[in-house]
Amino acid sequence: TNGKVNGAAVVNAPAKTFDTILVLDFGSQYSHLITRRLRELNVYSEMLPCTQKIADLHFHPKGIILSGGPYSVYEDGAPHVDPAVFELGVPVLGICYGLQEIAWHFGKNVVAGEKREYGHAYLKIERHTGKEDHIDRLFEGIKDYVEVWMSHGDKLSRLPENFHPIASTSNSPFAGIASTSKPYFGIQFHPEVTHTPRGKEILSNFAVKICKARQDWTMEKFVDKEIERIRAMVGPKGQVIGAVSGGVDSTVAAKLMQEAIGDRFHAVLVDNGVLRLNEAETVKETLTKHLGINLTVIDASDLFLGKLKGVSDPETKRKIIGNTFIEIFQDKAKRMAEEAANSPRAGEIEWLLQGTLYPDVIESISFKGPSATIKTHHNVGGLLKDMHLKLIEPLRELFKDEVRALGTNLGIPEDLVWRHPFPGPGLAIRILGEVNESQLKIARHADKIFIDEIVASGLYRKISQAFAALLPVKAVGVMGDKRVHAQVIALRAVETTDFMTADWFPFDGAFLKKVSRRIVNEVDGVCRVVYDVTSKPPGTIEME
Ligand code: GLN
Repeated sequence: TNGKVNGAAVVNAPAKTFDTILVLDFGSQYSHLITRRLRELNVYSEMLPCTQKIADLHFHPKGIILSGGPYSVYEDGAPHVDPAVFELGVPVLGICYGLQEIAWHFGKNVVAGEKREYGHAYLKIERHTGKEDHIDRLFEGIKDYVEVWMSHGDKLSRLPENFHPIASTSNSPFAGIASTSKPYFGIQFHPEVTHTPRGKEILSNFAVKICKARQDWTMEKFVDKEIERIRAMVGPKGQVIGAVSGGVDSTVAAKLMQEAIGDRFHAVLVDNGVLRLNEAETVKETLTKHLGINLTVIDASDLFLGKLKGVSDPETKRKIIGNTFIEIFQDKAKRMAEEAANSPRAGEIEWLLQGTLYPDVIESISFKGPSATIKTHHNVGGLLKDMHLKLIEPLRELFKDEVRALGTNLGIPEDLVWRHPFPGPGLAIRILGEVNESQLKIARHADKIFIDEIVASGLYRKISQAFAALLPVKAVGVMGDKRVHAQVIALRAVETTDFMTADWFPFDGAFLKKVSRRIVNEVDGVCRVVYDVTSKPPGTIEME
């Protein structure tokens, strides 16, 4: 959030209406976790790259956290924070590289250590009770010895002027420092990782006790403010178009738009022919009947399946589906825009809704060195340019669990809120080899049985993603004393927190036995069922 969305000024973005702790990212793999932990404490937090100029900020933070990072502050070309950070008059906490950056700023006292420190360490807290109480506040309520997690090679050679040590480890005499005159703190360890058991309390001490940030970041509050914000952005007549899939993100985004502007939001569901059993109908029913969303369903299955004929290369399948989707959506959007412009009731369609989440934003802004890469929304770029649409992204500041909480808040049914992700190319990438009606029939039926059994045994929420894939090979079996030669279903179920790494779910034998028996008995064309026991990496979650 640099204050602009495609040229349109951001009206009352969360950072403007909620007390905000700004995390400046120096490229640590944990930077986003600092933001996560603060939000779990109901303190709103946003991350920006360490190169952020303070003068360009569109909000006034209550405090600033400098993250860790892979560089060494004393190296040529190492990133440094805008010195204006120390003139804003707000508390600053440096974590690891951030601590070293503070020490560097106030005296260039950082050197390569003789001993690196990775992993667990014991922190001894030094209190100054009576003398300089405020510098004790960071570790208030924490016992004198605590376990922390370290990952550094550099160290402070000397304390910066007017700083006191507030914690040490056997290897780092300055594992915690605080300024005696200003609310500046630095810690060598990582409070944001779960390996630092009291880390969240330390972050809470900083955000709540030191920065005095209000703990009012809840989805209940967000929903009202966001509806107001959408209304202000779109105006009294403006219209918005957006694709929905039946997944959590697009449904929550659509419901939010419906609450904000009613029928001036137009949802479009494209049936690409590779959806799951009865999916288009179910989604239509939920979105229109239960959620009151103005929805148009386009059945384009024949077009998609026609283009997929004879194609078995996974990347080609993905491209065909992606491109055909954009073609159809764009065409529909143009026609709707013409109708809207001619209707006396409302204005033109000026906006395109996208269900972008905060992890996508973080990925595109996180600091990766001088050549920071920016990820673009490749799939909507054309639409935005050709139709002069502006992008509206109401979930842009939210993490997935916040989207779920928001969904519940908006009255979206629980089973939808907790739905596993489903890929855009749908069953086409779960049917290995060529996709056609007969293969779809087998894959749909087997998937339905697998998912129904997972739900029936109460495992659906424990598993992050599960599906049945259809393999393009035949095996021999014996059914009713007769030799059969039929296809193989591969079941896949994984557990993961971030979908970057994942492990297969350890079902018990009885469960797998039951699912296998049902699939072989009930699904024509299948004589074997196997379970995929590959983690990610090296596997991916989907099969293609
Ligand atoms: N690169 C710095 C060091 O090795 C900082 C490491 C970090 O922030 N995790 O000390």
